[in-house]
Amino acid sequence: MAAVMPQHDRTPASDGQPYYRPVAGECELFEVAFRHRLPLLLKGPTGCGKTRFVAHMAARLGRPLYTVACHDDLTAADLSGRYLLQGGETRWVDGPLTRAVREGGICYLDEVVEARRDVTVVIHPLTDDRRVLPLERTGELLHAPPEFMLVVSYNPGYQHVLKNLKPSTRQRFVSMEFDFPPPEAEAEIVAAETGLSGERCAALVNLAARLRALKGRDLDEGVSTRLLVYCATLVQAGMRIDEAARYTLVEPLSDDPDVRAALGELVEMTF
Ligand code: ADP
Repeated sequence: MAAVMPQHDRTPASDGQPYYRPVAGECELFEVAFRHRLPLLLKGPTGCGKTRFVAHMAARLGRPLYTVACHDDLTAADLSGRYLLQGGETRWVDGPLTRAVREGGICYLDEVVEARRDVTVVIHPLTDDRRVLPLERTGELLHAPPEFMLVVSYNPGYQHVLKNLKPSTRQRFVSMEFDFPPPEAEAEIVAAETGLSGERCAALVNLAARLRALKGRDLDEGVSTRLLVYCATLVQAGMRIDEAARYTLVEPLSDDPDVRAALGELVEMTF
């Protein structure tokens, strides 16, 4: 019997809408999927806005959101629930997926491929027209209300043979590909998030495009929108732009001194 429940965030439905700049009709697709009770799969690199998008849509649709960052020790019981020893008594405690089903909320499983294989066993019956969650340990069979929605994400860039989404799972979701926003939109996002001037944000986005061009050759992942936001935050706090870029757009990308030197040269050429 485990002593703790897994880490997850619950965002109540009453929170204000987190800022999200739509890029290509994704809000409409989410809404249609929600209205028609279809589960959604978001594919895309880290830091490109998937989590923010789900948070925005949950608030917009007025549903509580349960976000679980999946990792390789995460099991089906972590999502559905388990018996815990509390004050000398054994009590059933719902996991985040079960709570989302009971409350008619949205459950977002971030990086779902990282989780243990048995997680697919609990999510499959929720992703077809049965929309049920069997809780074997308590003998309950929960029917998801119309407002319940399952959203999962994964990063195809990290994929390897053992950590791949099985076709039988993948084909249960409406799927949407995410990527870094186009330059104009990305500059707008960085400006909105940090208050840095449009001109300086455009310069950062320009640099990001050059750094991203190195992906595949020297880098596994391109610089994310999240890192651009970090960079602009440091600049807005008074740091020189080339220095901020070193801490946020060069150092986090690689530990290889040669790669870092090449990235550093690009930064120097830009500023
Ligand atoms: P992911 O879940 O894809 O790893 P996040 O949703 O956490 O990425 O995005 C990282 C950051 O990038 C957000 O905190 C936000 O500042 C910014 N961001 C990226 N795309 C958008 C967008 N379209 N609108 C608003 N902010 C965005």
